[in-house]
Amino acid sequence: MSENTKNDDLWKDKLDPEVYKITREKGTEIPFSGKYYNHKEAGKYMCSNCGKELFSSNNKFDSGSGWPSFDAPTDEASVELRQDDTFGMKRTEVLCNECGAHLGHVFDDGPKETTGKRFCVNSLSLDFKKENKQNN
Ligand code: FE
Repeated sequence: MSENTKNDDLWKDKLDPEVYKITREKGTEIPFSGKYYNHKEAGKYMCSNCGKELFSSNNKFDSGSGWPSFDAPTDEASVELRQDDTFGMKRTEVLCNECGAHLGHVFDDGPKETTGKRFCVNSLSLDFKKENKQNN
């Protein structure tokens, strides 16, 4: 992708203001308000800014947090992890590695039987694509 994909003015034109606020200004949507926290269909979750595939319904679990939660990204290389010390907390921010969109944070209180990680992601950072059923 070109350098312009990280240019803030272009994103401001391209994105809905509520999406911009979360993904480009590192906002957090109100828990239990997003469209995907309780979403259980099979499919893929893409970056709402650039369309990059980030998460799969196979990794989604109900954390009770009010945000879509995953125990892992589909591909580790598709997300960037960055230390975040804002608001007096030590957290790890999760960003889209393709376009730099803020997705959420990752915590160590995920399902122990799998990765133990909880990728806590804003619904507004994601676009769901239903799995294509192959009918032969
Ligand atoms: Fe992206």
